[in-house]
Amino acid sequence: MREKKKIIALIFPDSLPTLEELEAKYPPRQLPAGAMVTRIAPSPTGFMHIGGLYAALISERFAHQTNGVFYLRIEDTDRKREVAGAADLVCRSLQRYGIKIDEGKIAPNNEVGAYGPYVQSQREKIYRAVIKFLMEQDLAYPCFCTTEELEELRQQQEAAGVRFGYYGSWAKWRERSSEEVLKLLAENKPYVIRFRSPGDFKQKITIEDELLGKRELPENDQDIVLMKSDGLPTYHLAHVVDDHFMRTTHVLRGDEWLASLPLHLQLFKALAWSAPRYGHIKPIQKIEGTAKRKLSKRKDPEANVEYYQQAGYPEEAILEYLLNLANSDFENWRKANPQANLQDFTLTFKRLKNSNGALFDFDKLNNISKEVIARYSATEVYEQALLWAKQFDAELAELLANNREYAEQILKIERTNDEKARKDLARWSDLKEEISYFFDEQFSLTVADLKEKLAGFTVAEINKLTQSLLADYSENDSPQVWFEKIKKIARENNYADNVKDFKKNPENYRGSVADVAKVFRVLLTGRTQTPDLFSIMIVMGKERVKKRLSFCLTGSV
Ligand code: GLU
Repeated sequence: MREKKKIIALIFPDSLPTLEELEAKYPPRQLPAGAMVTRIAPSPTGFMHIGGLYAALISERFAHQTNGVFYLRIEDTDRKREVAGAADLVCRSLQRYGIKIDEGKIAPNNEVGAYGPYVQSQREKIYRAVIKFLMEQDLAYPCFCTTEELEELRQQQEAAGVRFGYYGSWAKWRERSSEEVLKLLAENKPYVIRFRSPGDFKQKITIEDELLGKRELPENDQDIVLMKSDGLPTYHLAHVVDDHFMRTTHVLRGDEWLASLPLHLQLFKALAWSAPRYGHIKPIQKIEGTAKRKLSKRKDPEANVEYYQQAGYPEEAILEYLLNLANSDFENWRKANPQANLQDFTLTFKRLKNSNGALFDFDKLNNISKEVIARYSATEVYEQALLWAKQFDAELAELLANNREYAEQILKIERTNDEKARKDLARWSDLKEEISYFFDEQFSLTVADLKEKLAGFTVAEINKLTQSLLADYSENDSPQVWFEKIKKIARENNYADNVKDFKKNPENYRGSVADVAKVFRVLLTGRTQTPDLFSIMIVMGKERVKKRLSFCLTGSV
């Protein structure tokens, strides 16, 4: 007994709080019934995965829709993997997407909350206090195995055809004498502290996961490492300690941790703490060939949250896409509530369970993003696009900044506040291509372009049509009057003034009014497809229209 005390005193010479003191310092939270306390707990690796943003969004929504708390904890106990500035990247990404953090690092250099510190490397004393307690209870013990010895153990297990690991009779230091431990401590030999697992692998436990449902898992019997030789805790211990003292009610985390759940539940039990509810999120997947696989940080640029920023997807579009992935009824909700705030949508575990492991789909993302941008006013589009361009496309930034009024007029075309609103923009990086022809410095039309796009029309014919239009063109015409004029030009030149008549008797005409409009369209924009031509002409202004329509006469634009 005295020897055990001596060992503990040697391992923990520092003054540590007792568990009672910690309980008092981090009391249960006073929250309304049903309020969820959730968190994300990233390891700062310098990369924000879209799956991490997804998990953060889900966790934040559940917390806030129940009047609970969402916090950010930085899990930086693996010093080898740590990347400078990585924690800031996480909180800046969450900020960018409007995912409100209540506690923890809410901004670089700003930590708030009464349950901190929220960075694991600053919580060493708390972990040590708990590990010390476990040792006092004989639920943990030091192990002096070297890497070579552990490798040897593995080989023996392989030869014997048994499960790998440090358990049962393979747990070499489980029953070592205090003398031996004291001797190696005196020699300053490196050691780790292991959990003394009470489990039996042959027994099963049944869990009810919020997202995976009922599962049967074998009990844990591994004497896993709680404290590494550098004195820092492993994920397992830190998770249990932090989620207890930070009073998390729901741990929503990647499903790679499901296999460790029996161990985590065992640790909660050993400490006589009640465990939180768990929901294991399957990774977002993509199809490769015929197989599904998870989005890979190495192979898929779209795995990185920064990718979406660079491509110029509005943050709101990414949030809508992720909510849609999480709960498939989001789409209907959005249709019924086109102007509602995203916060008003209620996520449910039930639907999340059904969509767990969803597929990443660019078409879907682009469609959602087009809908989102279609809801913006021309001014909003202008401002957001300019903000993006300043960072990623200097030429577009200059174009927009120097021509604000003209650009907003362009963006107003077909930007109606209804179902018919234009839906051609999914990303700000698509904008230049969409609007460039309005700007003389970006517009070019060659004879080769004309030959290709207006094949079948002679130069004489093109000139005749354009001169007719110019002779009678007025910027004060209504769209109806304008179109009547085009139809008149069509008739005068032996084109059917409606497509139906032309289809009925194609042999009677040179073409239809659509072909006449095409001539004007190509000359004005260099394209065969554009938004409403009348609006384009009004926005371009008479001078520009005149100049472009005279291309065949003058040979230049
Ligand atoms: N640091 C762990 C990870 O990044 C956190 C898992 C959890 O949410 O508990 O995978």
